[in-house]
Amino acid sequence: MAASDVLRSLALPLPAAPKPVGAYTPFLRDGRLLYTSGHLPLLPDGTLLREEPLDAVGMQHGKVASHLMLRLPPGTVTWSRTVTSLDRGPDGRVRAAFLDDGSRIEADVFLAADGNRSAVRNILFPGLQLKPERVNELVCLLQAPDIVERLGPSFLKFVDAGRALSVGVVPCSRNHLVWFMQVPSDNRFEGRSHEARHEAVRRLVGDWAGPVPELIARTQFGKSYLWRTTDIDPLPSLSAGNVAFVGDAGHPLLPFTSQGVASALTDAAALGDLLDESPTDIDGALARYSEQRLPETTGFVTAGRALQQAFLDRDASPADMKSPFAYPAAHPQS
Ligand SMILES: Cc1cc2nc3c(=O)[nH]c(=O)nc-3n(C[C@H](O)[C@H](O)[C@H](O)COP(=O)(O)OP(=O)(O)OC[C@H]3O[C@@H](n4cnc5c(N)ncnc54)[C@H](O)[C@@H]3O)c2cc1C
Repeated sequence: MAASDVLRSLALPLPAAPKPVGAYTPFLRDGRLLYTSGHLPLLPDGTLLREEPLDAVGMQHGKVASHLMLRLPPGTVTWSRTVTSLDRGPDGRVRAAFLDDGSRIEADVFLAADGNRSAVRNILFPGLQLKPERVNELVCLLQAPDIVERLGPSFLKFVDAGRALSVGVVPCSRNHLVWFMQVPSDNRFEGRSHEARHEAVRRLVGDWAGPVPELIARTQFGKSYLWRTTDIDPLPSLSAGNVAFVGDAGHPLLPFTSQGVASALTDAAALGDLLDESPTDIDGALARYSEQRLPETTGFVTAGRALQQAFLDRDASPADMKSPFAYPAAHPQS
């Protein structure tokens, strides 16, 4: 299902799609920098993964969440409580979840959507552990309507061809943009003051093409977020009896595929449809949900790892400029 169809099925309002601007320029090379814009990656044979304009929409996370919340009856959600353990019957089915205030919530079906460090996943699949982080992403939110206007609908990505170092810039509203820098995990930002963070970024990419220097100058690094990216081997199933795993809880993904939000929403839409179709066979609906979603999310794990390796390999093989964004040919198209 296309991303826009999923968003419509969740009753999320979509703005009119902007005209694709420069969507057919694969990349521009400037010295050691590769500048890409407005298209999906190249396949190993040099062709674009998809040549039509992207079916992509940028929305702020908080706005999506609050819009979805409006559709729930008041009192449905218990806020500021954490699931700490599960009560399982002799058949292994979950009967209740315990919260950190000692309360117990009984239910027929449990949807684990508790993010990449999912407590529910750790209880039901204790052998599966998050992989050691190999790449850090420093993420900054900047209020800059002037830069947003200049960028238009572009997602910019600047890549250092000789080192594992990238900067991305994504407008996310008329006033705000998110920009990020990807580097190998080496603690260079860990525990540093925001002045030291600012200085480290300036030293690494301060002389890159516009708007990078301007972004660095205008960012408050005290509010930047260091994302220690990690993933997990694919779960054997996205369902276990009367429990289904949705979003990062079922498939934490590396950042390189940019599929975390889209696949969490697609999970939710798919699961909702299957539960609607089989209201009296919930376990069957959950099993079908796993069959439907697991192949694609497993593909994202594989693709993310291949892209991460290609990123890290740039430190080792600086001359390889041919296909820095090459996806494995088997990568599922979303
Ligand atoms: C800095 C950063 C930048 C990112 N950028 C992008 C991007 O550009 N594009 C993209 O697609 N993805 C991006 N991601 C990934 C994306 O945020 C996730 O893939 C997405 O939020 C997954 O949604 P989710 O609902 O599954 O999990 P989450 O959004 O993580 O939500 C999980 C929720 O469960 C709650 N929770 C956790 N543990 C418990 C518990 N024990 N009991 C009860 N509640 C619990 C958490 O508080 C949270 O509210 C980014 C992530 C980070 C950290």
